[in-house]
Amino acid sequence: MNTIDYLRISLIDRCNFRCNYCMPEGTELDYILHQDLLTFEELMILLKQVLIPVGFTRFRLTGGEPLLRPGIVDLVRGITALPETQDLALTTNAFLLANLAEDLYAAGLRRINISLDSLHPGTFNQIIGNRGRDRWQQVWGGIQVAHAVGFDPLKLNVVVIPGVNDHEILDLAALTLERCWHIRFIEFMPIGNGELFDHQGWIPSEELREKIRARWGLIEANVKGNGPADVFQIPGAQGTLGFISQMSECFCDRCNRMRLSADGWLRPCLLNEEGQINLKMALRQGVPTEMLRHWVQDLINLKPEINFKQRESGTLTGKYGRTMSQIGG
Ligand code: SAM
Ligand code: SF4
Repeated sequence: MNTIDYLRISLIDRCNFRCNYCMPEGTELDYILHQDLLTFEELMILLKQVLIPVGFTRFRLTGGEPLLRPGIVDLVRGITALPETQDLALTTNAFLLANLAEDLYAAGLRRINISLDSLHPGTFNQIIGNRGRDRWQQVWGGIQVAHAVGFDPLKLNVVVIPGVNDHEILDLAALTLERCWHIRFIEFMPIGNGELFDHQGWIPSEELREKIRARWGLIEANVKGNGPADVFQIPGAQGTLGFISQMSECFCDRCNRMRLSADGWLRPCLLNEEGQINLKMALRQGVPTEMLRHWVQDLINLKPEINFKQRESGTLTGKYGRTMSQIGG
């Protein structure tokens, strides 16, 4: 059985973007009310008294857009100060990063993943649903500041959508030639915007690798991360290329993670709600943390049986009702 030691912590389900594959404009979402958010005090209690004692040592802050949550710098300081924390990372759209990067670094954060689906401001604005307001420049500025501040590794996430940004694969891959960045291509999943998925479909990672191989050659990189990416490198390049292939390849058997939603649900699988428990409610009802440890340990033991339900004959099919921003991507 895999060691389950990696927890993705969603700080908020709201976002300042409306990516068309995640939470497209016009979608009605039931946002978590302020009083229902897990407070940072509650989160620290859960980490210290429940989650770390059962084995979680590596954490990622995500959302929604985690930089929208006030107090995130103090939270980062709190988590990195815990002696058991082996790794803390952040996933962000970088729109607010330029002003926060230095403080986050000073608070102990070293690893950031930034979503950047296009190098063209027009396409980018179309994807993030802010037509008329050019946000690409501000995101690119945030990436530059993060790089200058010293975040390493700096990873850029690209969700590849046929007919939208797939023509940019080589340009995005070329960013790694001179920069020690990690570009990660993510297969589009039928979660969030089922209509776009039905209309555009998705591209298997191997197809992208073939394109890149034909242009420069491609070798396997000797890198082991926390996650499910298969990592490659263009020969002689400074950075690497990761491929996250949850559609074309089932990696449930090497999954090492659980997710904590912004309202306190601990769930063992991205696309399966079986077994999930609400740690915030239990804490507020006065359930002793010793009891919570047992519950979480039981869930960890059950995890190998809780997989992608929608997976049929090796591929993920069927749409999933909740968005990544609601679950905590
Ligand atoms: N707002 C932050 C961001 O965009 O980086 C963090 C949260 S976002 C939900 C986390 C990741 O989920 C992003 O890299 C995003 O591209 C990815 N994502 C969202 N919807 C997806 C989908 N339908 N298929 C594949 N990846 C998706
Ligand atoms: Fe927001 Fe991230 Fe979803 Fe885009 S992918 S809408 S930035 S939560």
